[in-house]
Amino acid sequence: MAELTLDNVTKVFDDNGTDIVAVDGVSVDIDDGEFLVLVGPSGCGKSTTLRMIAGLETVSSGEIRLDGEVVNAQPPRERDIAMVFQSYALYPHMTVKENMSFGLEESTDMPDSEISSLVEETAEMLGIGDLLGRKPGELSGGQQQRVALGRAIVRDPKVFLMDEPLSNLDAQLRSQMRTELQRIQENLGVSTVYVTHDQTEAMTMGDRIAILNDGELQQVATPLEAYHEPTNQFVAKFIGEPSMNFFEMEMQGDRLTSDLFDYPLSEETREALGDTTHVTFGIRPEDIEVVSEAADDHDFEMVIDVVEPMGNENNVYLSFETGGDADLVATVDGMRSLDAGQPVVARLPEPAIHLFDTQSGSALK
Ligand code: ATP
Repeated sequence: MAELTLDNVTKVFDDNGTDIVAVDGVSVDIDDGEFLVLVGPSGCGKSTTLRMIAGLETVSSGEIRLDGEVVNAQPPRERDIAMVFQSYALYPHMTVKENMSFGLEESTDMPDSEISSLVEETAEMLGIGDLLGRKPGELSGGQQQRVALGRAIVRDPKVFLMDEPLSNLDAQLRSQMRTELQRIQENLGVSTVYVTHDQTEAMTMGDRIAILNDGELQQVATPLEAYHEPTNQFVAKFIGEPSMNFFEMEMQGDRLTSDLFDYPLSEETREALGDTTHVTFGIRPEDIEVVSEAADDHDFEMVIDVVEPMGNENNVYLSFETGGDADLVATVDGMRSLDAGQPVVARLPEPAIHLFDTQSGSALK
């Protein structure tokens, strides 16, 4: 069993007398065997969080617990945690086999023969069994990544920490390694915290994702929950590609109004808003229907600005005004023939819309 807990963890760096709060009161439980993806934009505190878990960075306040035991003061090698870095951090003068064995030779009294067979077995599992005699310089990026992973796996740690481990690989290999990593993690059942700034990676790999912004945890949820029920506008914007469309609107009577369009709300939705008058309206591109005729007051006459073919889908940029800049993007079937300049109707179905308090960003619906 390995359960990792971050309890109100904060990291303040001192930058020549100025405090930089890199991680601000983060609390999250990573269950035994869970794959948790820590995701957020550059500089939001992902790596610092991971480095505190690994023991490479001190914790300013709060607790990190491993199986209930506070490890704040434990040096990295005593934590039974293995970290895989973006840079792989392989020893260039050592062979693959030596790179994978080194940690075990240093930190355990496992007999050499046992280490050797463990390394060979793991290398086989990772598809690098025939590369054991090579040096890192004689390997492709993907192969080096597997060696780095293999080195972490042979240590049989309680927790894996991975810091953007796939970001140096090309798109195809990255997507292949994503699936492979997930399979390996599931088979090994080792609790894993995986850092990325790539929301696609987060959505496809995580049992749960933890979304961080400015050092603060925004939401911890399954990928689908974060997608369908974002707790705030930041999460709504960060998850999903193309990004959710947003409009700042004002509540007047039974409708939301703006310079661009008015949107009547059902009584149920109005109740969800309470007293909030400044509301940000959000709708995902894939929830917008592009039709030819307006049928109700959630349908809006628009003009196609640009059609961006994506293969099986088209991103259609629409404007409320002929010749105007795009006001929203809708995703439609790639087989549909739609052209720039064409007048269409955008249907924004009420069940699909998201509403946020403009001031705080919190989700209201
Ligand atoms: P990226 O995706 O770009 O790697 P990140 O989310 O991993 O970003 P961190 O590297 O954790 O972000 O950095 C969080 C904040 O802390 C940033 O503002 C960074 O400048 C700051 N920071 C990190 N390390 C230090 C340090 N040693 N001294 C001062 N500030 C630091």
